[in-house]
Amino acid sequence: MNRADIHERPFITGQHEEEKSPSQRLYETSLKVTRPRLLVLGLLHEVKGHFSADEVVQLLQERQTPLPRASVYNALEALLKQGLVMLGDVGPGRALYEESKTWHHHFVCLDCGTVIDIPCLKGEKPCLLPDQLPGTVEEAQIIFRGHCNACLETAREKS
Ligand SMILES: [Zn+2]
Ligand SMILES: [Zn+2]
Repeated sequence: MNRADIHERPFITGQHEEEKSPSQRLYETSLKVTRPRLLVLGLLHEVKGHFSADEVVQLLQERQTPLPRASVYNALEALLKQGLVMLGDVGPGRALYEESKTWHHHFVCLDCGTVIDIPCLKGEKPCLLPDQLPGTVEEAQIIFRGHCNACLETAREKS
């Protein structure tokens, strides 16, 4: 990093990702800071958890900061490419976004659809590689499917 770089970056680097505000994290990337990007990242930071693009559109509307659907999709796409947002493919047909801090996996309940974060032992991508590489691997995301404790409890009470 040269000196000009340092001056352009208003924030201290080397801080833990957890301590940084969404706008701070956005400013540290090469992305242009736009209102949709700030709003979308800020929302995911505040609400925590996993949301579809449509849910993000809806939540922004509820918070009186509505954005056109296309802007939300574009912002999510850009944030995803920069690694500020993580896409959990918890299927079938469910692509959920969340603020990305530490690489992790997901547990999905087959009964109620709850999505729970599972820490990754390695904490960085890719944490798993196939024996035979068909090419290069960027990431490996594991989905654990089963029955969450709350659903198991309900099932126990019913029987
Ligand atoms: Zn459940
Ligand atoms: Zn997650």
